[in-house]
Amino acid sequence: MLDGGCSCGDVRYRLKSAPMFVHCCHCLDCQRQTGSAFVINALIESDRMDALSGDPMPVSMPTDSGRPHDVYRCPKCLTAVWSDYGRRGVLRFVRVGTLDDPTALKPDVHIFTRSKQPWVGLPADVPAFEIYYDMKTLWPKESLERRAAILG
Ligand SMILES: [Zn+2]
Ligand SMILES: [Zn+2]
Repeated sequence: MLDGGCSCGDVRYRLKSAPMFVHCCHCLDCQRQTGSAFVINALIESDRMDALSGDPMPVSMPTDSGRPHDVYRCPKCLTAVWSDYGRRGVLRFVRVGTLDDPTALKPDVHIFTRSKQPWVGLPADVPAFEIYYDMKTLWPKESLERRAAILG
């Protein structure tokens, strides 16, 4: 179980289990939206998260694909705590930097490394892809089953 929250403390959440997979995304959207070199997202079922306090509000972000991307932010301090890609509701991309212990999760994969900042070095033992990857070959079987259970 891992707890996290926003900067002002209004939003607090708990992950009730390990995530299915953890992305480190180096795409330009993530760089712009975070103002940083990449974002680290823990992919977890919404029903494996408890809202301990606060009520994060969705902010719709423009995307190249045209598919919806809502970033959920603390209504007071506007810290981004998770994303809902595709407005599916059942799956959240939790920003690992908002965990009380952000070292608790590390990336399982690096994606969109084509736009990676040139000074960022990647570990040799973690798969990295210029764009995206094939989930079926990279995700553990149990995580694929969890994903199928919510998305079919
Ligand atoms: Zn806040
Ligand atoms: Zn990205």
